[in-house]
Amino acid sequence: MNLQARIEDVHHRIEAACRRSGRSPEDINVIAVTKYVSLEATREALDHGLTQVGENRWQDAKEKWEALGDRGDWHFIGHLQTNKVKDIIGKFAYIHSLDRASLAKELEKEAAKRDLFVKCFIQVNVSGEESKYGLPPEELESFAKDLKQYPHLQIVGLMTMAPLEAEAEATRPVFRKLRELRDALNAERILPEPLRHLSMGMSGDFEVAIEEGATWVRLGTVLVGKS
Ligand SMILES: *Cc1c(COP(=O)(O)O)cnc(C)c1O
Repeated sequence: MNLQARIEDVHHRIEAACRRSGRSPEDINVIAVTKYVSLEATREALDHGLTQVGENRWQDAKEKWEALGDRGDWHFIGHLQTNKVKDIIGKFAYIHSLDRASLAKELEKEAAKRDLFVKCFIQVNVSGEESKYGLPPEELESFAKDLKQYPHLQIVGLMTMAPLEAEAEATRPVFRKLRELRDALNAERILPEPLRHLSMGMSGDFEVAIEEGATWVRLGTVLVGKS
């Protein structure tokens, strides 16, 4: 399949998942994850109307961002080392991997210095896999409370990754749990603004994630390919 065909296929699959779950396709935002592909392929994705770009390492994103950073919104989706915050601040509109106090503190410091705001998702390790980054669910509430002291961080939602080896359907409880965690935070009014977003679902499981409430899906292989 070429890029145009993959984009159309993904849209049809998103629409079908929305129909099955009574949701509107307008509520689903697609991030084109370009970490596996070249600068040229990233440019092609933007030329085809994809506007949200996701990368998980600054070293790999740098060249693409320097050439194309003014096109679209950039999302940092990978584990973020505290000493890399200076590199990416102001370049990535969204950070999907806020998962510890030291990172929140550093993001706040660098954002305040530049007088800008960073939209963040709190990454939760719902599945409990040791290899995954993210906050344990039982620490979420107190972590969220602490974030109130950081005015330059705009917390927009929660993010998780489901176990990769699982069958798509087996990921459902992970996605459902993330939605329940978000709804509980909102019910308790832990943050000043209710969290609207759930960043969940990748190539192998995005339809299940949408059925469970995803508002951002992060698609690499199935959308821009894996070269
Ligand atoms: C690589 C990556 C994706 C996209 O992976 P695909 O399975 O190729 O769609 C999504 N989210 C994160 C955090 C990633 O690192």
